[in-house]
Amino acid sequence: MVNEKKLKKRVESVIDQIRTHNEHYYDQDAPVISDFEYDALVKELEYFSQTYPHLVPSDNPLQQIGGEVSVAFSKVKHRLPMMSLSNVYSIEGCLDFDRRNRSLLQKELGRVDKISYIAELKIDGLAISLRYEKGRLVSAVTRGDGITGEEVTHNIRQISDIPPIISYQQSLDVRGEIYMERSQLEALNRERVSRSEVPFANPRNAAAGTLRQLDAMIVASRGLRFFLYLVVEAQALGVKTHAEALSWAQEQGFPVNTSRQILMDLTKLPELIQALSAQRDGLPFDIDGIVLKVNELAVQDVLGATAKSPRWATAYKFTAEEAKTIIREVRFQVGRSGVITPVALFDPVEVSGVMVSKATLHNQDFIDQKGLGLGDEVLIKRAGDVIPEVVMVAHRASNHQPIVIPRECPICQTLLIQDETQVAIICSNIACSGRLKASLFHLGSRYALNIEGLGEKLVDQLVDLGYVKDPWDIFAVSPSEWESLDRMGEKSITSLMTELSACKTLPFERILYAMGIKFVGEKTALLLAQHVNSWQELFHLSKEDFEAINGVGSKTADVLIENLPWLRAKCEVLSSLGFTLKIIKHQTSDRLQGKKFVVTGTLPHYSRSAIEALITEHGGDVRATVSKATDYVVAGDSPGSKIDKAKTLGVPILDEAGFLKLIEDVPS
Ligand code: NAD
Repeated sequence: MVNEKKLKKRVESVIDQIRTHNEHYYDQDAPVISDFEYDALVKELEYFSQTYPHLVPSDNPLQQIGGEVSVAFSKVKHRLPMMSLSNVYSIEGCLDFDRRNRSLLQKELGRVDKISYIAELKIDGLAISLRYEKGRLVSAVTRGDGITGEEVTHNIRQISDIPPIISYQQSLDVRGEIYMERSQLEALNRERVSRSEVPFANPRNAAAGTLRQLDAMIVASRGLRFFLYLVVEAQALGVKTHAEALSWAQEQGFPVNTSRQILMDLTKLPELIQALSAQRDGLPFDIDGIVLKVNELAVQDVLGATAKSPRWATAYKFTAEEAKTIIREVRFQVGRSGVITPVALFDPVEVSGVMVSKATLHNQDFIDQKGLGLGDEVLIKRAGDVIPEVVMVAHRASNHQPIVIPRECPICQTLLIQDETQVAIICSNIACSGRLKASLFHLGSRYALNIEGLGEKLVDQLVDLGYVKDPWDIFAVSPSEWESLDRMGEKSITSLMTELSACKTLPFERILYAMGIKFVGEKTALLLAQHVNSWQELFHLSKEDFEAINGVGSKTADVLIENLPWLRAKCEVLSSLGFTLKIIKHQTSDRLQGKKFVVTGTLPHYSRSAIEALITEHGGDVRATVSKATDYVVAGDSPGSKIDKAKTLGVPILDEAGFLKLIEDVPS
């Protein structure tokens, strides 16, 4: 006999959990459980609603699409609802989907028409609906709750992938995915960390968070991208299939992902899924599965939709690349700005081919939201080449010990304080040796001075022995001090000396970035260096002058003004030590106007985002994929498959120096 009282309690608990996770995922862009776990809860509720409908209230989350509509934007009702997608996690699930379609057609029409499918990448971003009138983009609305969305036209106009004008003159609604490339997320997160802001957990959250910005200029600076995946009521165009509608959209200038494939039946599906999954890590953006859609529009019409999703499409979702392990220890690292970052150390475990033994826990909020504790078994995820992330507690230890950021700095014992963001906990002692070590490490990092050989062990010794009291003291360490260090033989010392002397001729932006000033990431350092003709000129700028530089905000201007005297003194010392602090002028120009670039691989002196900023500054266009239309590929080390494609298509390939030449000799 079923205990209905118990069942009812479980139903309530499942509904409660789904609501809470919807809020984390859709409204805060910060999920705390994996999609797989979430979908398992939804499936459980679906089971209850079919088997015990009287126990499930009618206003349950199964009826709901997406999250709440934010009050910060005006609300717009969609002409046709923006639906979600049903999902499956196996080939068997896809075959069930096909069987269901066939039996429905049989029921509705008394026969089964020809069904072919189209398989598309499921881009991991957020959905947008675009309306065109008389060939002009007139509105852009988020999915919201599926019925009503948020009007974000102003922000969408900042996305260069989205054509503001098309040749088709009738009313047109199209839908697609706004996403952020992984390299863009990395650059954005580096900037955020340098500003003591919490980094975004993944590109989806970053794209969603960006589109919700009230300031369109922020959206403009974040390089969001777009792929169209649906033309609404496409029959009006005279096309018969979804594939034809996508090709039509492409001709109108919309970007449509080219990995789509038509399947006459599902026999080749396992192969296709394998092939598309294999492409996953090499793609510049995240995908979380493959969408299978009935290709024939007339068949789509017959199949129709449930309250939540079309019956003619389903998402085959990749099971997350996850593994379970146990948190053994948590170290509290001190960053150069004093921010304390808890880092979990676990029993090493393999996740998608890589051994993982630690992951950042970001901050106390992250730890508390997930209820993480020492000894707990946790689920670890790695998406693409993104760093590992703790998803959730898989099994709470019986002797679970809560993780709490200490009250005192683990290095210098100064009482920790909360910074103005109320999220980060910081050690405010500027003389803290933990901060000094982090600053020295930053100074030697790739896009700062790129000092090969300056690893953690060397940094520890230099600081612990008191040879370095300020990061730049590394240029004044005496020969006998170098010799006294562990594992520093003659050969290592000579190569380190060569590295250090090479730093003296680095361009000014690299020195500025190496200074580790709050808010001054690589891109801002480049903007500042490009704004002046000599390093001395920087110290004559006012707050207004800084704010007038496109890309420098008022907070950064404040920090710069506050730091100018210190920075000037530092630059003067460096100059007396033989640093050239040279400005290599990449004057803003329209030299690259109309030229399409793809940047790939690790470049010797500039990060990809800095090169991309230079391209945009000179009127060029940065693209993610190499095609016949690409004018140049700028390639560094480990460029991956893009370089092969460029060679096949005969697209010119430039190294960093070759690229800089394109913009350096602009007549003034
Ligand atoms: P979804 O993300 O699974 O699929 C629908 C969306 O896929 C569409 O709205 C569209 O934006 C996108 N999409 C990308 N490429 C597409 C393509 N080629 N064609 C069509 N659509 C494409 O559905 P959803 O309604 O946005 O979210 C529901 C899912 O989100 C759940 O199944 C769950 O996995 C996840 N979720 C997770 C949590 C959590 O806490 N982890 C909470 C809520 C939802």
